[in-house]
Amino acid sequence: MPGFKGLYMPGPTNMPFRIRAAMDVALEDHRAPDYPQFIKPLLADVKKIFQTEAGHVLVFTGSGTSGWESAVANTLSPGDKVLASVFGQFSLLWVDLCQRFGLDVDAIDVEWGKGVPLDQYRDKLAADKTHSIKAVLVTHNETATGVTSDVAGVRRILDELGHPALLFVDGVSSIASIDFRMDEWGVDVAVAGSQKGFMMPTGLAIVGVSQKAIKAADTAKLPRGFFDYRDMLKNNAAGYFPYTPAATLLRALRVSVDMLLEEGLANVFARHRRLAGAVRAAVDAWGLRNCAHAPQWFSDTVTAVVVPDGVDANDVIKTAYNRYDLSLGGGLNKVAGKVFRIGHLGWLNEIMVLQALGGVELAMHDVGIKFEPGVGVGAAVRHLSKAGEAMRLAAE
Ligand SMILES: *Cc1c(COP(=O)(O)O)cnc(C)c1O
Repeated sequence: MPGFKGLYMPGPTNMPFRIRAAMDVALEDHRAPDYPQFIKPLLADVKKIFQTEAGHVLVFTGSGTSGWESAVANTLSPGDKVLASVFGQFSLLWVDLCQRFGLDVDAIDVEWGKGVPLDQYRDKLAADKTHSIKAVLVTHNETATGVTSDVAGVRRILDELGHPALLFVDGVSSIASIDFRMDEWGVDVAVAGSQKGFMMPTGLAIVGVSQKAIKAADTAKLPRGFFDYRDMLKNNAAGYFPYTPAATLLRALRVSVDMLLEEGLANVFARHRRLAGAVRAAVDAWGLRNCAHAPQWFSDTVTAVVVPDGVDANDVIKTAYNRYDLSLGGGLNKVAGKVFRIGHLGWLNEIMVLQALGGVELAMHDVGIKFEPGVGVGAAVRHLSKAGEAMRLAAE
């Protein structure tokens, strides 16, 4: 089909032409004497995206999942207890990974559509007088349900109780799109992936590590090879890697970080908030429900839309793809067939969001979902117009 394909799944996301162009380079000598002149400032600037000065950001070749693996393998020992909560496919898979590593996972089951249960975290941590819980896991943005959780709230609980557990955050679909403050929130390991907010191809796990996490790596007993933080830190300090880095992707990362910093993180977050508001306005206007139960959970990077009873959400997704070259996210596991997901993160603007919503309306209309064509797009137009006006006034 002629024309651009619409890529509105929550990852991979749309890649800016500037990033594509940055990768059209000859392969490089990653042991060259001048390579550190590229690597050192790059790693320093990636730290700004994580909002950390005290920590380090390590870049591994791998997808986001490998970042989880690095967190566990570097800081924990077999049988260590970790506290987690499951409210979607990604928080579920993280627990599964911990179990495969022989950890003792206390995974709180939460209704899908809600997020990290702060009260239960508080109760469990308060009851843990011997500090047997070594790490607390938070999926900042559950991409399967479009739910954002309160990382700062978890840090507050740990501090109030004086509990020394490490705080791990899955920020794969939040970091670089939704406000994430590694230092302020006392996050010990924060995991991002290149194909979401960083607007790049898949292939890099971008991992923020605190001094406390680095210290834990000295005594933690789980086996690790490729992902050993100590090797990476030692080599990075000199501007190199312990093995061949994905140098072409690092060129892309350079431009990604430049673009994010040029726009300004506050503006990046505000843009995501504005565009997400338009998607939510459309969902309301369609008379459909957001899978996230309440505004406190609404995600600014992905919205899972619950289809009416009797409709298979996969029909919407297939119709959108087959007829209109529009990729939406599917429902995973418990919400399979019940939701389709609109990704609204990364390199995205007002017109692209309207394109996605228009395409969703086409597909929903084709499969017989009852709504007045144009109401969702209309609501989004009103939202964006008003939000744009407010932004221009604020800038004056
Ligand atoms: C995409 C995603 C992952 C998995 O990342 P991969 O790059 O596919 O390994 C993990 N957690 C969240 C929240 C995600 O959105």
